[in-house]
Amino acid sequence: MQSITILGSTGSIGTQCLQLVRLHPDRFRVAALTCNRNAELLFAQVREFRPGFACLVSPPEHLVIPEDLSFCQFAFGQDGLHTAARDIPADMVLVSIVGIAGLAGVLDALNAGRQVLLANKEALVTGGHLVTELAGKAGKPLLPVDSEHSAIFQCLQGAAGNKPVSLLLTASGGPFRTWPRERIDRATRAEALNHPNWSMGAKITVDSASMFNKGLEIMEARWLFDMPGEKIRVVVHPQSIVHSAVEFADGAVIAQLGVPDMRVPIAYAMTYPERVATGGERLDLIRLASLTFEESDPVRFPSLRLAKECLNAGGAACTVFNGANEAAVAAFLRDEIPFGAIFTLVEDALSALPGLPADSIDDIYEADRRARRFVAERMKGTQ
Ligand code: NDP
Ligand code: MG
Repeated sequence: MQSITILGSTGSIGTQCLQLVRLHPDRFRVAALTCNRNAELLFAQVREFRPGFACLVSPPEHLVIPEDLSFCQFAFGQDGLHTAARDIPADMVLVSIVGIAGLAGVLDALNAGRQVLLANKEALVTGGHLVTELAGKAGKPLLPVDSEHSAIFQCLQGAAGNKPVSLLLTASGGPFRTWPRERIDRATRAEALNHPNWSMGAKITVDSASMFNKGLEIMEARWLFDMPGEKIRVVVHPQSIVHSAVEFADGAVIAQLGVPDMRVPIAYAMTYPERVATGGERLDLIRLASLTFEESDPVRFPSLRLAKECLNAGGAACTVFNGANEAAVAAFLRDEIPFGAIFTLVEDALSALPGLPADSIDDIYEADRRARRFVAERMKGTQ
């Protein structure tokens, strides 16, 4: 029996992890659950999975904890999140909070020597050097949950120590894959949230439409697999069946395939190196008949070029990329800016904030704050 804490249990990844716990009650027990403010869902989860600790980071006003949940200790705010990640004993901590808000939980869990299952890519994008150093010191390699990175991690299980010469990161291309740039720039919220293959939280769905998600994933892969940006190649693959691949010195390419279902990479991280049933559909190659691959278009989707420029620039460039994107996506989801403004706000933030350091966690949060402030001020027309 393994105990698991889920930071961000009410989200798309968190709820799918709990589906797996429900499917395998003999293997998993829930230690702690956290969310931002979705009290109703958190209460239902606490009622079903009976953790000893739960936290709402930004609880709604006048929150009343239901009487039947008195077996669970509830906490609030960042302190509650720290307690869940660091102090509540657990064999593993899944970090499925969205955005840089997940970084603190990753650092806390690693500092406490816990096995981290990492869905939150923004922690590696912004604090990759700190996170990987801590994981190395703890001797607990991060277990990736992001489907592409899980795929690469799975491919590497058969590598017998051979280091790949390149990583092939697949991308569905999102809902705007074939759209002209003018139409992409005017895309509505509903259009951006209509992902062809995956059902995910709102922020990552918008990132998939803009291809910023793939930019973030290049940075994530750089840290997880210690691979320079120029050896990470993005391949657009609209069917989302090949989840990614690795290429070796002899030209052999090993890929991982499966239906697009996040329960597979989540379960792999939860039971690694074992594999268990996930309750999902199985891959039928004959029914599928064909898989296609294409180059991504750097003009319509500048996100990949920007991501590689940020990796080359070093310092806090990736944090600025991430912070400006988080702020721009939030504004787009509030209907305050058109879709195309996400590209220009991030590119302009990167030009306006060059050379910021990222030596410490304080540097990283400062770069994040400055990127967000830049976006807010540009939106008010004062930059
Ligand atoms: P969701 O938006 O669905 O869920 C986010 C979770 O984090 C919720 O539990 C939310 O609580 C909580 N949360 C949000 N903001 C904060 C905050 N400021 N502090 C603490 N908790 C917070 O996101 P996803 O599940 O889609 O994504 C989670 C992470 O996993 C992201 O980093 C994403 O990139 C990555 N990922 C997701 C995939 C997917 O299929 N969804 C695939 C690959 C990676 P509340 O419900 O109360 O708002
Ligand atoms: Mg992914």
